Amino acid sequence: MARILDGKQIASELKENIALEIAKLKEQSIVPGLAVVLVGEDPASKVYVGHKEKACQALGIHSEVIRLAETITTQELLVQIKQLNQRSDIHGILVQLPLPQQLDEQRIIESVSPDKDVDGFHPINVGLLSLGRKTFVPCTPRGIMEMLKFSAIDVAGKHAVIIGRSNIVGKPLAALLLAQNATVTVCHSHTVNLAQVTKEADILIAAVGKGRFVTENMVKQGAIIIDVGINREGKKLVGDVDFDEVEQVASAITPVPGGVGPLTIMMLMANTIEAAKRRALCNKAK
Ligand code: NAD
Repeated sequence: MARILDGKQIASELKENIALEIAKLKEQSIVPGLAVVLVGEDPASKVYVGHKEKACQALGIHSEVIRLAETITTQELLVQIKQLNQRSDIHGILVQLPLPQQLDEQRIIESVSPDKDVDGFHPINVGLLSLGRKTFVPCTPRGIMEMLKFSAIDVAGKHAVIIGRSNIVGKPLAALLLAQNATVTVCHSHTVNLAQVTKEADILIAAVGKGRFVTENMVKQGAIIIDVGINREGKKLVGDVDFDEVEQVASAITPVPGGVGPLTIMMLMANTIEAAKRRALCNKAK
């Protein structure tokens, strides 16, 4: 039986450190502020935004959700983001993705000030990350790295195989694992003989978006399994890994729900605090 990497437990322990950081900022009369821009009525996005709002409230982070109509134009959304960029009480801005089809997603991502880009999606922050420089790290990959660190899993010299090459998960995670001296393979929808590659993994990360995609025959005995996927199966949420099967061969595995998800939200809190601290330093230097 595999060891369960309990994301809820890890997130609650990290929360204590984050709360201390917030208390220190409040001693300097700084209240970290996060604005979340939610366009339209996508049910999953609404749920995610609700979780983010709750986490902010629990920690005493000022949070605002800017709810905008599904039919908004790119120009109108750019105006909203410009206003948020200019506000001194807002340290972090997050535009909930995906956006409705008519919107120019890349242009919108690029309109968020890199200093407030707590999602780490702005090309400047993406570039800094790939250079191994200090920057805002996208929340899910940062959460995965925290989970590995917290669980005393040293990635140096290990073969990490990521299934999925998205800008949100796969690519930034590859950069972070490389920076920690893992040997990294990134697989995607065009990878040939996928199971042969994944069977080589000491650490296998699934970010595919297909329920129970990773089965026992794709996993090496003793591998560490990180399941990023969130997929609906009726009323149930399942990961990209067939948990019941893979748990039999893995040495450690994340559950869904309660694995990577709680850490993603905690890293958003951490990035927002980071943004508030950066601003405070800039203000001092002026
Ligand atoms: P995406 O759709 O942008 O990317 C999916 C990737 O999977 C692509 O790179 C694609 O090439 C690859 N892929 C698809 N079919 C494949 C196949 N047959 N073989 C190999 N590779 C294949 O998805 P994403 O945004 O990276 O998200 C992935 C999953 O993670 C989704 O279920 C999403 O809901 C979830 N997610 C969870 C969190 C969290 O906090 N837990 C955060 C972000 C995303």
